Amino acid sequence: MKYTSTRDASVAIDSAQAIVNGLSPDGGLYVPQSFPGLSRADFDELCGMDYPERAAKVMSLYLTDFTYEELLSYTRKAYARFYGDPCPLVGVDEGLYVLELWHGPTCAFKDMALTMLPHLLTAARRKVGEKDKSLIMVATSGDTGKAALEGFRDVEGTDIIVFYPTGGVSDMQKRQMMTQEGENVCVCAIEGNFDDTQSAVKNIFADKDMGERLHARGFKLCSANSINWGRLVPQIAYYISAYCDLLNEGKVEFGDKVDFCVPSGNFGNILAAYYAMKMGLPVNKLICASNVNNVLTDFFTTGKYDIEREFHKTISPSMDILISSNLERLLFEISDRNASLIAERMDALKKKGSYSVTKAELNRMRALFEVGYADDDATKSAIDAAMDLYGYLMDTHTAVAYNVWCEYNNACPEDECPAIIVSTANAFKFSGDVLTALTGGRKDADAFEDCKKLSAFSGAEIPEPIAALKDKKIRFDEVIDKAAIAGKVLEFADVLAAKDKA
Ligand SMILES: *Cc1c(COP(=O)(O)O)cnc(C)c1O
Repeated sequence: MKYTSTRDASVAIDSAQAIVNGLSPDGGLYVPQSFPGLSRADFDELCGMDYPERAAKVMSLYLTDFTYEELLSYTRKAYARFYGDPCPLVGVDEGLYVLELWHGPTCAFKDMALTMLPHLLTAARRKVGEKDKSLIMVATSGDTGKAALEGFRDVEGTDIIVFYPTGGVSDMQKRQMMTQEGENVCVCAIEGNFDDTQSAVKNIFADKDMGERLHARGFKLCSANSINWGRLVPQIAYYISAYCDLLNEGKVEFGDKVDFCVPSGNFGNILAAYYAMKMGLPVNKLICASNVNNVLTDFFTTGKYDIEREFHKTISPSMDILISSNLERLLFEISDRNASLIAERMDALKKKGSYSVTKAELNRMRALFEVGYADDDATKSAIDAAMDLYGYLMDTHTAVAYNVWCEYNNACPEDECPAIIVSTANAFKFSGDVLTALTGGRKDADAFEDCKKLSAFSGAEIPEPIAALKDKKIRFDEVIDKAAIAGKVLEFADVLAAKDKA
């Protein structure tokens, strides 16, 4: 299987090279040249497997320059870090299920891919003969930074440095990063907002001089961003796995279609569901749920993607996004893989802040995708309703999806397919807002107090990784100006190089 670029049809490289590169030099995203199919026999085989085996099997169809055994050794290591079943499918009502993707080390769905990426990246580097160590650099508004730190910590041949805006992440997220353990990690807060942090980090990636200075120290900068194919491919597996669980439990017959409703931001998670469908997963509808940053809802309704709009801070911050990078991969398929057209549109997005698709393309998308959004009040009501109706505790992101699914279900009662709500974070990660939704009270200044109250109210246990934070030592409390980021990266590289020598 070769990989091409969404913006240049002449590109054809192996998956290892695509993972090492991250982004294609033309600015496009790597996509497989074709989609592998899953037969009835494949599903029978997958049904008899545990999750690490299912994930390795699905990935082996895409990463053909890796062996199944190789991939299985990585999935075994990655998913051993989860607490119990990595992605249980929980039945909450007749024909309604929640796919819980947050049983990993940081309690958010990013763990499903970021525990795998370090193994894929180190192996891919070996395969392409890369000599430098990989220095992972991340700008984060919360979940990605912590999940990347946990994924890469103490992984041979890699080091990681994470920058976050000092006022732009939740208390629990900040605490998670400041207490990060591991010998190859560095975390630093930036004065300013997420955009400042993100553009400063992007500038470093683009800076040739910086690249040379790091190379002289034996390092190559790498991104753990969700546009990397190595982050997307592990996500396809859990959609297929959820269907196998339904088959095993006798809830569906092979071929029966299901709906998935996905709380979306960068469009990576729901894109993985689309890819699973292209492989033969029986899907009726993919429901794309947004918060009040509803650029995707508007796009799927009108055909115009327009970022000239106000940016809102919400209680589902991991979906506070205006540019959904992975949408480019869907556009590529919908346009019949027209790379030059995609390049034009992405250029228009950059220069004018918008682009439009044709009527025919819009209709093609609408045949499969449904959309909707929930504001903060609707999200809180959904948290309350899920607790009342099913005794189910959900976080603010999952509740956006639940709200949007309820609206869809009311509007389309003729759709009788089983529905799977994709749950992307544990409720205790956003304990203050979840508690407020359930009790109508105010948030406590101390997020741990809210965790205790939420546990008492719901009867749910505080997950281990969050409970353990309270007693962890603060290791990283430095706050720097964004102009000092490059210096900080070089300083970290020097410390690491000295350590490697010793
Ligand atoms: C990242 C994230 C999302 C959005 O996922 P995308 O793949 O970017 O669409 C939703 N919920 C949570 C909790 C997240 O961390």
